Amino acid sequence: MSPFRVCILTLCVACLAPSALAQQQDFSKVQVKAEKLSATTYMLTGAGGNLGLSVGADAVFLVDDQFAPLTVRIKAEIAKLTKKPVRFVINTHWHFDHTGGNENFGKAGALIVAHENVRKRMSTEQFIEFLGMKTKADPPAALPVVTFTRDVTFHLNGDEIHVLHVPNAHTDGDAIVHFRSSDVLHMGDIFFNRLYPFIDTSSGGTIDGMIAAVDRGLDLASEKTKIIPGHGPLATKSDLKAYRDMLAAIGGRIKEAKQVGKSMQEVLAANPTADFDGVWGKGFLPPAKFVEMVWKNLK
Ligand SMILES: [Zn+2]
Repeated sequence: MSPFRVCILTLCVACLAPSALAQQQDFSKVQVKAEKLSATTYMLTGAGGNLGLSVGADAVFLVDDQFAPLTVRIKAEIAKLTKKPVRFVINTHWHFDHTGGNENFGKAGALIVAHENVRKRMSTEQFIEFLGMKTKADPPAALPVVTFTRDVTFHLNGDEIHVLHVPNAHTDGDAIVHFRSSDVLHMGDIFFNRLYPFIDTSSGGTIDGMIAAVDRGLDLASEKTKIIPGHGPLATKSDLKAYRDMLAAIGGRIKEAKQVGKSMQEVLAANPTADFDGVWGKGFLPPAKFVEMVWKNLK
């Protein structure tokens, strides 16, 4: 099985299974692996959203924490790099494949930080209509302790780590994380690299917000910036640009068709993703599902 296929299967679990099901998933074969991106930063992969990590003289700073059963393996991988415990966890958004380890890390003493809407959504039952998925409210120990509305900066490990909110994109509580000195950018689920992204309309996500958030990322990135996507392999600015072009082209086609009164069936029949499917269409959202999602998002 190719690494790409493994990654997609992982994503299926992450994005399509209700959290109760996710708890029953067999994580026993999941390997958590760190890839070094700069003197102090790493990308960690396992199951669920990609993690970002800063390790250095001051503290261990973690971006997202996947699923609760993987906390032990995430900690073990971090322990290969430092003896220090995780002091900060940033959640890029509320989805459980990015926040599932919060309770474990919080109880172990980490300070959990996120946009205020992450705490709001995690505090109550949520229903993602497009996936027919209901999630329960998280226990208090899993909730972010510090919330922000616009942005917050951490001065750690010789880095300036800027966490900035991008409105109504994948959800209504997204943040992207820019490790300025390391020249590393974690995009959260604003960026699905090489697969059609999920836009959570029920949580306030919009395709226009996604594109605007990608533009924020493009503004922050240089040709040398290492970009961690929420899902998919490590990326460069040109990968992010290709993703932006794909979103704008397909979004524009569907918008136009709607404006002239075409039905969703007519839009699907016209196959508006055809020229992009080779690169983007092999993920957990097949092309027709992606078109349907964007169509419904535009209502
Ligand atoms: Zn997500």
